[in-house]
Amino acid sequence: MQKEISKTFDSNKLEKEISSLWEKSTLFNPDNMEKYLKGKGLDIKKPFTITLPPPNANGNLHLGHMCGYSFHDAIGRYMRMTGHPTLLLPGKDHAGIQTETAFTKELEKQGKNKWEMGREEFYKQCYEFCMTNASNAREQEKNIGLSADYSREFFTLDPRLTKTVYETFEMMFKQGLVYRDKRIVNVCPNCKTALADIDTQHEERRGIFAYIKYPVVGSKDKYIMVATTRPETMLGDSAVAVNPKDERYTKYIGKKVLLPIQNKEIPVIADESVDMEMGTGAVKVTPAHSPIDFELGKKHNLEIVNVINEEGKMTGDIPKKYKGLDTISCSKQLCEDLDKLGLLEEIQNIKHEVAVCERCLTPVEPIISNQWYLNVNQLAKKALDSLKSGETKVIPKGQQ
Ligand SMILES: [Zn+2]
Repeated sequence: MQKEISKTFDSNKLEKEISSLWEKSTLFNPDNMEKYLKGKGLDIKKPFTITLPPPNANGNLHLGHMCGYSFHDAIGRYMRMTGHPTLLLPGKDHAGIQTETAFTKELEKQGKNKWEMGREEFYKQCYEFCMTNASNAREQEKNIGLSADYSREFFTLDPRLTKTVYETFEMMFKQGLVYRDKRIVNVCPNCKTALADIDTQHEERRGIFAYIKYPVVGSKDKYIMVATTRPETMLGDSAVAVNPKDERYTKYIGKKVLLPIQNKEIPVIADESVDMEMGTGAVKVTPAHSPIDFELGKKHNLEIVNVINEEGKMTGDIPKKYKGLDTISCSKQLCEDLDKLGLLEEIQNIKHEVAVCERCLTPVEPIISNQWYLNVNQLAKKALDSLKSGETKVIPKGQQ
């Protein structure tokens, strides 16, 4: 009997047949594998598990996911074939901020607005969005033959996991590992949320470098000139800092300057971190709106003066005319006003790197905010000890 061989190889058909064969065997579940080995009278070696890094449940998987999975899968299959009950544990990540962005874009396409939708409805719909994407990703994983145990699959926003997260948080809070603190954080005025450093990126933008004179108190016609890319933050200045080795300024250390517009006396302090070559060598210190100045402020016990709120608007104890302005309008207005007072020496147009929100590319505002923090010192020590004792091994060795 003759049978014609098809002219083209249909990989789709064959792959489906093979993967359904695998699925029927249920051997990707380590419990079943153990039973199988027992039934055959074979040795059962030590169990082996890989927690697969869960992909974000907000879109299609890409080549990077597949590349990572192929390594995990090859290792898992090797362990299985050498007699280890093996678990490749799959999962999907709700990926908080990224998914919020992806879903918000979806809503915008439909002409909907997340702020009008309300918190609960947004959560509900966003959860469904994740579920749809999770099921899509699962199919894609199965299509490449990933030998994971889907009977154990987890989703990071699953109520069971959320319960564990809450319990762990409470436990760490009671142990003093989790605490609240006022520190400077990146805030996106557009997204109205605090951002982790990893959620920001740097971009070259046009800006200005303004040279402003701060009159020295008690010395007529003497002033210290500072250069700044953000004149509006001067309203929150607490000091002017110079390098103690900078001979141009040593005579002013310990004296006071008059902060223009605010008409407030602030000290001239000495700190070795000040770069004598940069700008004029004298820097304005705004602890509430610059991470570097925040540290400097702590070191020198300076006042913290908030003048920009989380929406990027001018606020606080400042002259009325600037209140409520956005930072750029305030900067322009201030330069005009300083010029009238004869305290603006020069404005240079520059290009410089600014930190922007990864999602909407709005420049971030460093703002003092009350946030939760986790003290990882103890956890890091345990992890290091475990590495040193050899209990945890990193493969390949060069990566340790
Ligand atoms: Zn943003």
